[in-house]
Amino acid sequence: MAIGLHADQTVETGVFARVRAIAARELRPRVRDIDAGTYPADVLRRLGGAGVFAHHTSAGGGADLEAAIEAMAIVGEECLATAFCAWCQDALVWYIANTENAELRDALLPSVSNGEILGGTGLSNPMKALSGIEALRLRGARVAGGWRVNGLLPWVSNLGDGHLFGICFAGEGDRLVMALARCSDEGVTTRQNAHFIALEGTATLSVLFRDAFIPDSMVLADPAEPFVRRIRAGFILLQTGMALGLVRGAIALVRESDSICGDVNAYLPDRPDDLQRKAVRLGDEIDVLARTPYKTDPAYLRAVLQVRLHGSELSLAAAQSAMLHAGARGYIAGSVASRKLREAYFVAIVTPAMKHLRKDIASLGNERKENDS
Ligand SMILES: Cc1cc2nc3c(=O)[nH]c(=O)nc-3n(C[C@H](O)[C@H](O)[C@H](O)COP(=O)(O)OP(=O)(O)OC[C@H]3O[C@@H](n4cnc5c(N)ncnc54)[C@H](O)[C@@H]3O)c2cc1C
Repeated sequence: MAIGLHADQTVETGVFARVRAIAARELRPRVRDIDAGTYPADVLRRLGGAGVFAHHTSAGGGADLEAAIEAMAIVGEECLATAFCAWCQDALVWYIANTENAELRDALLPSVSNGEILGGTGLSNPMKALSGIEALRLRGARVAGGWRVNGLLPWVSNLGDGHLFGICFAGEGDRLVMALARCSDEGVTTRQNAHFIALEGTATLSVLFRDAFIPDSMVLADPAEPFVRRIRAGFILLQTGMALGLVRGAIALVRESDSICGDVNAYLPDRPDDLQRKAVRLGDEIDVLARTPYKTDPAYLRAVLQVRLHGSELSLAAAQSAMLHAGARGYIAGSVASRKLREAYFVAIVTPAMKHLRKDIASLGNERKENDS
């Protein structure tokens, strides 16, 4: 299935049909509650049971990122908070699927990829650290059988009792170590410190590590730099499922508004057919890049960053269009169009944010110039 196609242009079968049924029957009636702060753990488990998080469990050539992205997009058409939780889970699966710690992989991959164990990723900080935007927030000291970790991550989503999440900390000699932590572990304290304008139902918590013990059995990679390089494109590409879902949901809203006042709406920019064309093109580009997530050459990486940036730009444009087409109906508190607008800003600011993407694209350009000279 081509990722860019809108659902009504293709016949969905198998897992995609199951995801759409869950989204329509179990998610749609609850989107307002989720927007207001209810964490949809049961829906995520149902999605896991339908196979949503199991597309990219085989490392190497067998990882089907296109299917993972498409499933996330179907969820995102209804609710970006749930799509983001799905991305958090997908990222966790991606780390476990790619670790060379076979014991950890064998022990956890089945129950994480079927949604029995939920969790996420605290990798925003190390991704920003690797791009020279901020310092690493976690430090580890070597002790018998593992690491003692200290520091604070201000926002990690898809968390709850017993949930797992990926972390990176500075180990000895400042080398990067990547591991899994668990919310209920001794020395790991979670707290809800902030409320958000959208995505409030994502169980986003601050995580304090105070002498938390991370056993060697939970280490994903040490040193982590080569591992992070290997998983980076997949981490970023998977996020494009959120953008595609948001855009498609916004286009559906524009069409709905047109059915009421299409004559005057026809004078607006970013009409549904224009947005649809752009969404299909974006989906096609993602489709091609998602087939080779382990490539690390600068040209490929640049294309991945560009497609993620285009996804953010198109999300903002489509959500704005949905709002303008809806008019005053969209301006009523609690309207779907206003939620889409708030959600679209999340696609643009979550790591890698638009400013982060532009910085990385610029530095890849500089690298190329240096290599040319
Ligand atoms: C709803 C939501 C869910 C998120 N989920 C995750 C997740 O699952 N995993 C993850 O790793 N990250 C998560 N993040 C963090 C996110 O990806 C970004 O890193 C974060 O929004 C900061 O990026 P920025 O580009 O705005 O930082 P910058 O603009 O570069 O900010 C500069 C610095 O200020 C800090 N800062 C700014 N405002 C605050 C504040 N109010 N409190 C504390 N520090 C602050 C930032 O952390 C950063 O170090 C989430 C953020 C949100 C809003």
